[in-house]
Amino acid sequence: MNHRELLKDKKRIVVKIGSSSLQHAQTGDLDYIKLEKLARELCDIRNQGKDVVLVSSGAIAVGKKAVNPYTEMEGKPVTPLAFKQACAAVGQARLMMTYQKLFAEYNQIVAQILMTKNTVVDDMNRFNAHNTFTELLKMGIIPIVNENDTIASYEINYEKDSDTLIGDNDTLSAIVAALVEADLLILLSDIDGLYTDDPHANPNAEFISEVEKLTEEYLNMGKASTGSNVGTGGMNTKMAAARIATGMGADMVIANSRDVGILHRILDGRQEGTLFAANREENFDLKEFVNSIYKH
Ligand code: GLU
Repeated sequence: MNHRELLKDKKRIVVKIGSSSLQHAQTGDLDYIKLEKLARELCDIRNQGKDVVLVSSGAIAVGKKAVNPYTEMEGKPVTPLAFKQACAAVGQARLMMTYQKLFAEYNQIVAQILMTKNTVVDDMNRFNAHNTFTELLKMGIIPIVNENDTIASYEINYEKDSDTLIGDNDTLSAIVAALVEADLLILLSDIDGLYTDDPHANPNAEFISEVEKLTEEYLNMGKASTGSNVGTGGMNTKMAAARIATGMGADMVIANSRDVGILHRILDGRQEGTLFAANREENFDLKEFVNSIYKH
């Protein structure tokens, strides 16, 4: 049976959208038409009786735009990191305000969940997060998740060397998918999916529409660049996400966010993006895996 057909019956879906997909490239300002369409798509998927979680980046990018006039007046920030964290504090609130408004148009309640690495590796935190997600989904609410950037030590060319940092929302979304026992994770990005090589650098790179088993060969195809300089996730972080999602038993799709209507087409079993088939590993331990990818 065509694996794509199985996507029609997915019950619990985590969708991740990156910063570069939410902004106009020319100005860095929010793309309201895309955000509006995203909200409508997700509400409609929810109305089909499926559980939906949105993992959204954009806090730092939105905050930066908002504080811009003030930084010009005041000059240099205390540290570049403090500046980014301050931007995240402003931007996360703005982003949620926008989402609340757009989802309210469709009578959909949303909730905010901000996570750090400790949410996964600390047993009590993980237990609480799992219960909160479960309760929200039971009530038909769409949780909107981001990393708690003001608490986690965030570096733009991130080194995963902090005690609290996850660092990119690709990995975060797979962790969320594992936490809520989702059966599908969709990563919306500024690329069509996985290629045999970086398509920006190599014109002969071939598109891969399905990865049945995540072998070393595929993992090596993950290049560190998507061509975008806004978010932090490249193909490498998407491969880490695939490792977690498929290992925990969920299918994963990487798809282009150019038209967010692609969400419906994916759930309709159409050939869109790259599908990574679930391969549940009985002894896949999320906590152990998360700890291992952050070790240097
Ligand atoms: N959490 C960051 C933000 O909201 C983005 C991380 C990422 O792009 O992967 O700005």
